[in-house]
Amino acid sequence: MQNITVLSGGMGGARFLQGLLHGISSGTLPGVAADARVTVVANTADDLWVHGLKVCPDLDTVMYTLGDGIDPERGWGRREETWSVRTELAAYGVEPTWFGLGDRDVATHLVRTQMLEAGFPLSQVTEALCRRWLSPTYGDGVRLLPMSDDRVETHIAIADPESPSGRRVVHFQEYWVRLRASVPAEAVLVVGLDQSTPGPGVLDALAEADLVLLPPSNPVVSVGTILGVPQVREALAATSAPVVGLSPIVGGSHVRGMAEQLLGTIGVEVSAAGVGLHYGARSAGGVLDGWLVDERDADQLGRLHDAGLAAAAVPLMMTDPEATAAMAAAAVGLVRR
Ligand code: GDP
Ligand code: CA
Repeated sequence: MQNITVLSGGMGGARFLQGLLHGISSGTLPGVAADARVTVVANTADDLWVHGLKVCPDLDTVMYTLGDGIDPERGWGRREETWSVRTELAAYGVEPTWFGLGDRDVATHLVRTQMLEAGFPLSQVTEALCRRWLSPTYGDGVRLLPMSDDRVETHIAIADPESPSGRRVVHFQEYWVRLRASVPAEAVLVVGLDQSTPGPGVLDALAEADLVLLPPSNPVVSVGTILGVPQVREALAATSAPVVGLSPIVGGSHVRGMAEQLLGTIGVEVSAAGVGLHYGARSAGGVLDGWLVDERDADQLGRLHDAGLAAAAVPLMMTDPEATAAMAAAAVGLVRR
């Protein structure tokens, strides 16, 4: 296998990619060439404008993680970050104060915003940013593609007794960062998704792949939004590559994040099998050929096999790149013909 395409969110996707790339370079993935190329199609529906700057959390988390610029404890933003800009903005009383931009991180958003305002599409801006973060280590072996160049934004409807309708709609980042996903989410609304078109290279990356992987990213607001870009599902259905996913739910709970809350909102059972069946088997109109669950969810394999999926139970905790590379190896092994 020479070309691997991964549909990624932020933290879960980035950690998985770290392990996948470790596995490729150390030659531990069965049947995968040591010079295999990885194309990452990243979610952009978390993006927001803040303080006049365009912020793309999932693109940046992938870029900083693979480029060794990520803060390893937080899992987002730059390492050795300082927060003078945030403090100064707060001193002026400028809202929002709940979305803190670190000083180092601000440089990325300044470059991105300037390029967008000069007329470059997000895909070209991302390519330019990746020349700093990815090219030195991976050459042209790793490409990072926004799912779309169009503005797509996830909004969450929450209960608000003070509003005449009884609900209020907030940007996904406000739900997650300010409200910490602690208020019931009544609906997930992805503004602009139906009218969006896939970013340059996205459909080709699916058509030309030898393997497509769905990392343990959030099935609703990461992978779910990528799959919602018109033509992406069709491209997955049509590709000759096997499509394998890894469960973000382990032992009935998300490991970190807010997948539990949002799966409930869209009516999907919060379990490894629930998410696998939600994606569905390609043989039955879904997007997957194979689905990996954690060892502690092995009792759910029967339901997945019955639905027409290749499925296996292996350790799915991304504790370090070696353990994560073993997950990637199991994903490859599941569909290797
Ligand atoms: P985000 O955009 O930063 O929220 O990141 P992603 O959407 O890429 O991934 C978030 C999801 O990763 C969470 O909802 C968790 O369910 C999942 N996750 C995080 N750590 C692990 C892990 O170690 N193992 C597994 N199986 N899933 C994980
Ligand atoms: Ca995200």
